[in-house]
Parts: sequence; structure tokens; C-alpha cells
Amino acid sequence: MRDFLNELRDALEPAHVLTDTDATGYLTDQHRRLTGRALAVVRPADTMQVARVVRLCRKYRAPIVPQGGNTGLMGAATPDGSGSAVVLSLTRLNRIRAIDRDNDTLTVEAGAVLAAVQEAAREAGRLFPLSLGSEGSCTIGGNLSTNAGGTQVLRYGNMRELVLGLEVVTAEGEIWNGLRGLRKDNTGYALRDLYVGSEGTLGIITAATLKLYPLPKARHTALLAFGCIRDAVAFLSVARAGFGAGLTAFELMSETALGLIAHHVPEQPIPLALEAPWFALVELSDSESERHARERFEAVVGQAFEDGLVSDAAIAESLPQSEALWRLRDEALGKAQKRDGGNIKHDVSVPISRIPEFLATTAAALQSIFPGVRPVAFGHLGDGNLHYNISHPLNGTPAALFAEESAIHEVVHDSVHAHGGSISAEHGIGQTKRDVLPRYKSSVELELMHRLKTAFDPLGLLNPGKVLACAAPGQPEESPAP
Ligand code: FAD
Repeated sequence: MRDFLNELRDALEPAHVLTDTDATGYLTDQHRRLTGRALAVVRPADTMQVARVVRLCRKYRAPIVPQGGNTGLMGAATPDGSGSAVVLSLTRLNRIRAIDRDNDTLTVEAGAVLAAVQEAAREAGRLFPLSLGSEGSCTIGGNLSTNAGGTQVLRYGNMRELVLGLEVVTAEGEIWNGLRGLRKDNTGYALRDLYVGSEGTLGIITAATLKLYPLPKARHTALLAFGCIRDAVAFLSVARAGFGAGLTAFELMSETALGLIAHHVPEQPIPLALEAPWFALVELSDSESERHARERFEAVVGQAFEDGLVSDAAIAESLPQSEALWRLRDEALGKAQKRDGGNIKHDVSVPISRIPEFLATTAAALQSIFPGVRPVAFGHLGDGNLHYNISHPLNGTPAALFAEESAIHEVVHDSVHAHGGSISAEHGIGQTKRDVLPRYKSSVELELMHRLKTAFDPLGLLNPGKVLACAAPGQPEESPAP
């Protein structure tokens, strides 16, 4: 082992091979529920150094856990407890390599922080539209590897739609330069799309060519209230038709979710009375002018009022007011849930048309088995993506709720599955959902995934135990179908 560490130190500067308590920040997940151990945490400076690390890990048969900002929510960047893995931190690969204004692309290294990429695009007079609560710390490599979503997916798509090319270090330690800035390229299998969303299990992404968009001239934001979830779904269609590509956000929040903010984060004003069961933060981005945006917004929302779809509205009159509305969703909601004692989280998607039925049947199923639990539902309605979190009964405790965690997950995920949905909309599988995945995927799909894994990583060294259990190809672990 000493030889291995010495060779790693020779490959990188010794200061970037961490083997002691310096490394602890890299070994615990975002929720602080999982802590692993590692032989070393290495911090290469460029793609060549990443390739050398991978070749050394291959030589010594050491598992590799790629890590970006470590903001992922599924424990996918946390090593297991064996202490045999090398955590490969990409954060020093953070250069913007090129901006091509005519092609509307930006080429950036994988460890660049998302907010820095947004800023670089803005300085070039363009928009890089991925937007997440963790954008101050998550990295482009992590965004790609989890196929991150966020608040503007309904207009611009998730990370898969925002990337044109990749540079990847393979499990053999070879460098694949696929940094093509092409919007059309039908030359065989789409390797890029396989790496996106693979959570570090198929290769190490070292750089990417990303799509840029025109900066909007104006944004118009409002918090709208709805008398029932069906009205919110109906208004989504109305807003899509009325705003077209200008509809850039439609963030749903239940009255329970906003009620938690009112109770636990009183310093955060809520501009509407909590007298409706559902609310949505809606944003229109306009390419012409403030005035144009306002007129379009008022026409569509005004008509929805007349039609009885919207029951109340608070329209931001200025940038600070718009930012205050966004703080409700981006900061206050998370804070309120924590102060309420935490909850059991689900990141799920169902077809938008089935959301009302999903919400009703899931709540009924939960109440029949766990009376008094409080669903805190919010999410990206335009993508059919709900964060369906379950809080403890008012006469109970968080500890008693968490004792039922697996059973609650099963009720919610079974309902998602029954409604044609997915048990992971945007956060991935990692280690947290790995063992429940076989319950909801067919054996054919799992078998194909195992075969892909073996083809890309025959020695099984890339982030083992994430997404798929380390079962032999052709023998995926399965539990009975629901
Ligand atoms: P990490 O957490 O470091 O890693 C995540 C996965 O990617 C791991 O499997 C890791 O091995 C792999 N990986 C990282 N870098 C590489 C690389 N270069 N090559 C290969 N594999 C790599 N997610 C959403 O989708 N939408 C949201 O709205 C959203 N909001 C969030 C809000 C908050 C407050 C927080 C804390 C998280 C949120 N997330 C959200 C989850 C998380 O921020 C994203 O998944 C993010 O994309 C992870 O990036 P990261 O750099 O932190 O990756």
C-alpha cells in the first residue's frame, strides 16, 4: 500500500494526496447521514493527472470514488467503510477553456462550480440556464454525472439537454476527447448520453462543452394561489400556451409547505394569505422588454382569474421583490423543514396529468398506515417532479417517524410506480436508492445496465456499489415487484 501511495504522490504533488483527518470533509455526505473511509483523497490538477491516478488505481485494484462539490443527495460521492477506495476530487480542474459566441458554447473543466460557469456565460452576454439551490458549491462534473435538473428544466431541459460534448477518462485511464460543439452528430452510439447521469460508475468526466442561450431582457415573477391541485395543473397548460418558451419556472408549493415557513421562518414574509391548498411560483422570461413581459403576464394571469383558475396572486414589482419570492422556494423552505425536525424525502416524478390522482391516493395510503403524518409536497410541476417529503405527526416525534423510514419509502415509491412514475426524478440513485431500484426496474433493463457497466468498467473499480449493487453481470439482485 505504501508503494501505491508513493506512486500517487509522484503522480501529483504530495500536498494533493490526503491520507489523514484533512480528508474528513470528503468522506461524509451532504445530509451527514453517511460517512465512509478512504485510503486517500487525491486532488489532480488536470486531465493528464486524472488519467495517471486512474491507471495507478487500476494497477493496485483500488476503487475510485469521483467527487465534485459533494452536494449530491444520494450518497453517490461517499466511499464505503472499507477504507480501500481513493476519493478523486475534481475541484482543481476548474478552468473555463473556451467560449465560442458564434457557436453559443462554453467549454469548461469538470470541477468548475456551477455559479462560476453561470457568471462566465453572463460576462460573455449569454445565459447558462442550469439553476439549483446548491449552485454555489456543486460542480459541472457532478451536474453531468447526476443529470441535474433544477428550476428551469421546463424551458431549457436538464443537464443532458445542456451538454454537447464531453472529455472523459475511461476506466483504463485513457482520455476520450469528445468535446464536440455539435448540435447534430449521428455517428453511432451516443457515448456522451451514457456518461451523463451515470454517477461516476462508467468514467470520469474531466471537461464538457455546454450550450449557451440569449440572456432574457426581463423577468416577471409571481406567487399564485390555486383552489385545488387540478387548477394548478390546468393553469400550467394555460401558462405554456400563453407564454410559450418564455415560461421558465413553475414551482409548486403546498399550503403545508408554506405553513412550515410561516411557523419556523417568520422572518421570511409570505405575500399571500395561506387560504388556498396550493401555490406556485411562476416566472416569465422575456426577450423584448420589461413592459412586454408585464403585459403578457397580466393578460394571461388576468384571464386565469376571470376563469376561476387562480384564486389570488402576488406579483413582484421589482427585482428585490422577485428575489424575495425566490427565497421562499430556494432557502426558506429547506430551513423550515429542518427546523420542523427533518422529514423523509422523496424526489419523484409522475406524468403531470396524473399528479392530482397521485397526491390523493398516496396521502390516503399513508394516512391509513401512519395516521397523522404530514406530506410536505413541492417541486417542479412543469417537469412532473415532486419533492414529496413526509413530516412527523403533530402529536409524534421525528425519531418515531424515522423508525418507519423504509416502510414510508415503500408506500410512496409503490404509488409512484403505480402512477407510471420514477422513484428518482433528478437526484439519482447513488447508494441510498440502490437496493430499492430492482423493485421498480424490469429484469431486462437491469441486465442491460449491468452489461453496460461491465463493458465500460470490466474490473468494477469506478464508484462500485453506486446505482447498481456489485452483483455479477446477469445476476442482478432483485426483490419482488410491487
Ligand atoms: P457530487 O455530490 O460531488 O457527486 C455526485 C455524483 O457525481 C457522484 O456519483 C460522484 O461520484 C459523481 N461525480 C462528480 N463529479 C464527477 C466527475 N467529474 N466525473 C464523474 N463522476 C462525477 N439536484 C438537482 O438535480 N436539482 C435541484 O434542484 C437540486 N437542488 C439542490 C439543492 C441543495 C440545497 C442541495 C444541497 C442539493 C441539490 N441538488 C439538486 C443535488 C446536487 O446539488 C446535484 O446533484 C449536483 O448536480 C451535484 O453536484 P456535485 O458537484 O456536488 O456532485
